[in-house]
Amino acid sequence: MPYPRIEIDLEKIRHNTRIIIEMCKEFNIQVAAVTKAVCGSPEIAQIYVDEGVSMLADSRIENIRKLKYINIPKMFLRLPMISECDEVVELTDVSLNSEIKTIKILSQKAIERGKIHNIILMIDLGDLREGIFKEELVFAVVEEILLLKGIKLLGIGVNLTCFGAVIPTREKMDELIQIKEKIEEKFEIKIEILSGGNSSNIPLIQSKKMPKQINQLRIGDALITGREPAYFTLINDTYHDCFKLKAEIIEIQEKPSIPIGEIGFDAFGKKPIFVDKGIRKRAICAIGKQDINTEDLILEDQKIDILGQSSDHLILDIDNSSNMYVVGDIISFNLNYVGILRLFTSEYVKKFYL
Ligand SMILES: *Cc1c(COP(=O)(O)O)cnc(C)c1O
Repeated sequence: MPYPRIEIDLEKIRHNTRIIIEMCKEFNIQVAAVTKAVCGSPEIAQIYVDEGVSMLADSRIENIRKLKYINIPKMFLRLPMISECDEVVELTDVSLNSEIKTIKILSQKAIERGKIHNIILMIDLGDLREGIFKEELVFAVVEEILLLKGIKLLGIGVNLTCFGAVIPTREKMDELIQIKEKIEEKFEIKIEILSGGNSSNIPLIQSKKMPKQINQLRIGDALITGREPAYFTLINDTYHDCFKLKAEIIEIQEKPSIPIGEIGFDAFGKKPIFVDKGIRKRAICAIGKQDINTEDLILEDQKIDILGQSSDHLILDIDNSSNMYVVGDIISFNLNYVGILRLFTSEYVKKFYL
């Protein structure tokens, strides 16, 4: 069996999806299931579709291309690069946008393909990643959008808790609703979709404070981790171990805890610091910084300490463990969101669907 590998429990992901869709349904919120952390895995996307999400969403066009044969609307999450507008129009039904220059090119590409491309105009309510910040500018951009023959303004949206860690509150949602109502009144149009945010909006649903006008969330993290990222709390009745990393031990040796010799810089140009714990039993696993960062790993054997990493090696202190590890044994880890993302991105890590 090949290692390192990430084992994916599809039934646990199915269960989480069911719970979160049900939670959103109570508020008439449709779920766009975000596949970017799993590099657009068609196996996982199919589970989302089976359980009734309204669309699949991803930030990378390469991932969206992998989902081409799953027959459901697709959303492009990251603001399109001008250089990829043609593919965005080809492969997706709706994209999130904030730049009129890009929207005009999307329109032109849509007309060339005989299509209408839907957009959700992103408003920045203070998280300071993507979106139009000034309200007057929102209206000016809407005015220009409405003149474009290849574009339909499907909705407006916001993204929070990504750069600025701003929490989606009732007040933030109300701000978005007010902008929607002003646009509808000013231009005598109907805005169908209010896309209120991502997994960090789940606490607003749990506390029943989500306003009824918000009708879409774009959710990735919570489906695979069973956790909401705003306060980092676990969601009731969900699994938090849908993914496991398994890595193989290639060396076990007793060694001093402080290197012997003059200390310079390590493989990454840093000066390492060591604590003297005497002679310790250490293990090396065949996985490295190229695949994962140690802070994203959670050891199943809690008596093991992670000592560090180089590009292809993970170095562990196994001296306190009650397991008698030998070379060739497998060490198992749980993962956080970023850990899942990195391992999926590494072509050296095999993906096993259970
Ligand atoms: C990544 C992303 C999401 C999904 O966020 P999760 O925290 O994974 O739920 C939603 N919207 C945008 C714009 C994103 O980039």
